Amino acid sequence: RKYKREMNLRKRCHDELVRLRGNIRVFCRVRPVGQEAGSSGSRSIVTFNPDDDALLHLANKGKLMTFELDKVFPPQTTQEEVFQEVQSLITSCIDGYNVCIFAYGQTGAGKTYTMEGVADNPGINQRALQLLFAEVSEKAPDWEFRITVSMVEIYNETLRNLLGDNPSERLEIKMCPDGSGQLYVPGLTEISVQSVEDINRVFNLGYVNRATACTNLNEHSSRSHALLIVTVAGVNTTTGHRTSGKLNLVDLAGSERISRSGAEGCRLREAQCINKSLAALGDVIHALRSRQPHVPFRNSRLTYLLQDSLSGDSKTLMMVQVSPLDSNMSESVCSLKFAQRVRSVELGPASATR
Ligand code: ADP
Repeated sequence: RKYKREMNLRKRCHDELVRLRGNIRVFCRVRPVGQEAGSSGSRSIVTFNPDDDALLHLANKGKLMTFELDKVFPPQTTQEEVFQEVQSLITSCIDGYNVCIFAYGQTGAGKTYTMEGVADNPGINQRALQLLFAEVSEKAPDWEFRITVSMVEIYNETLRNLLGDNPSERLEIKMCPDGSGQLYVPGLTEISVQSVEDINRVFNLGYVNRATACTNLNEHSSRSHALLIVTVAGVNTTTGHRTSGKLNLVDLAGSERISRSGAEGCRLREAQCINKSLAALGDVIHALRSRQPHVPFRNSRLTYLLQDSLSGDSKTLMMVQVSPLDSNMSESVCSLKFAQRVRSVELGPASATR
């Protein structure tokens, strides 16, 4: 009886938290040990709770730290299993919701693996588009949909149009002149896609353009944010009713702290820009989740660009990527503290405003 009472209480607490936290979820994915650079001699310090997939423990040198998230994916979790947990978010774009999925964490923790995936095992980006194609074809002929994609890179607080003819062209974020308060990016290339071949062609173009403007793509991509922006616009062929949803899939710059003493010039500026935008993102999500009256969208290009997709009844998922190794412990703790902060709820006025 006591167990049942505890379970009921826990369920009530859980339901209450869902009510308070609204549409923001924070998941954690722990990458497998084995292929990490410089990992020889390191050991895993992460343990999981078989009865509770929201808990993650870090045990090192006699110290135990426990973190609670909305869900934790252990290293053996497959790309399919991760996708299963996010697919309802993705299909909600068809119903007109705006959705953001972010991969956060130190370089090497698996952000790109989760979002882009690898050739024979795609990540969320490609699976999301395939799922959207399948769902919209099921809704035909009652509904007609147009799916377009844009790819944007944010490096040192400047936006680049990765699908444009000129890869070094910089983009600006502007307020729509119609007084609606909506933002838009003049000149941002949007390409209509209908098949996996289309997606592969578009992803390739984005990849080539991203590589063109830098000398070392690996280093560059760990210091810039990569956004895949998918718009899904539908019209009901009988009633003329229209829907419009947006899916933003974001592979964030590496969150590792750069030692201030070691970095100078370009490197220092990169580090400052990354710190600023990741902190701004954390502040925005925390403010939204706490329903604070002021949400500081304008503190970085990333949050300003995504303002419309983060506010209102939008849905957000932060996927915090963590390495299980003791050699990465301090960065893992930082990432998990970031996760805890964006998850934490401060009670405030009920309406989230800009
Ligand atoms: P990040 O984008 O955070 O810098 P990556 O996604 O590039 O990290 O991951 C670093 C390396 O580890 C890559 O070779 C990637 O394929 C591999 N990797 C990361 N996560 C996993 C995973 N869950 N399963 C298998 N390999 C992974």
